[in-house]
Amino acid sequence: MPELPEVEVMRRDLEKEVVGRKVKSVEVNGMRSIRRYRQRKQFTDPLIGRKFTGVERRGKYLLVKLDDGEVLVIHLGMSGQLRRAAGTKEPLAKHTQVVITFTQGGQLRFIDPRTFGEMFVTSVEGINDVEELAHLGLDPLEHAMSWDRFGDLVAQRHAKLKPALMDQKFIAGIGNIYSDEILHQAGLRWDHMSDDLTPEEVRRLYRAVVEVLQDGVKYRGSSLADEQYVDLHGKKGSYQDHHQVYAREGESCLRCRKTVVREKVSGRSTFFCPYCQV
Ligand SMILES: [Zn+2]
Repeated sequence: MPELPEVEVMRRDLEKEVVGRKVKSVEVNGMRSIRRYRQRKQFTDPLIGRKFTGVERRGKYLLVKLDDGEVLVIHLGMSGQLRRAAGTKEPLAKHTQVVITFTQGGQLRFIDPRTFGEMFVTSVEGINDVEELAHLGLDPLEHAMSWDRFGDLVAQRHAKLKPALMDQKFIAGIGNIYSDEILHQAGLRWDHMSDDLTPEEVRRLYRAVVEVLQDGVKYRGSSLADEQYVDLHGKKGSYQDHHQVYAREGESCLRCRKTVVREKVSGRSTFFCPYCQV
């Protein structure tokens, strides 16, 4: 599943590729991807003839701004991919749900095998009425925060650190991979209680949140075997080559040389070093 770094990489790619382009036509194959509408026209009409003027991000939601002030909201969900295509002649990938063709040539395609992703158009003011967008937590890639303020917020959660980091109302966009990497970098176990951190640990944790997410963007995301993430050009990221613990069960910890373990936590794998994470 794409997490914050992968979505930020996609935002930057889109910013370069689609801004300034005008929508000629929109083709919708799967209604699941535009499930807020009953008819295709309700989604396609507000897009046709509009020019894309910018791409922003709110948590894991991409906001493509239109020249009439409306916004095309895109959520990749579990398995969604956005891909550019040179034109109509390029064969459609399996599970292509939406195709946007530009007057200048070229297409933006939305491919989504599991169809948890979606697209819809709303007004700028309407964004806050979207339930999933209204309550997103802090965005460490966008806004810096003092570590003591972060410490107050984390202590208020009174939760184990991993689920606390993955709570979208606390921090937007951290999932299974980056939470494990952040906690390893901070030297903290997944089940360390969030209200039982020393000031030094709070500082380490906050620094790890920011640094790991920034590194994720720098290496253009993590692409693992399952539901592999690729960028707008179909290329994989390389942050998986820099993972310290995630998917490294049985291998040696890169910090202390002891063995990385995996534990199942509420149905999902959690990777950590039981020696240098406390
Ligand atoms: Zn270790």
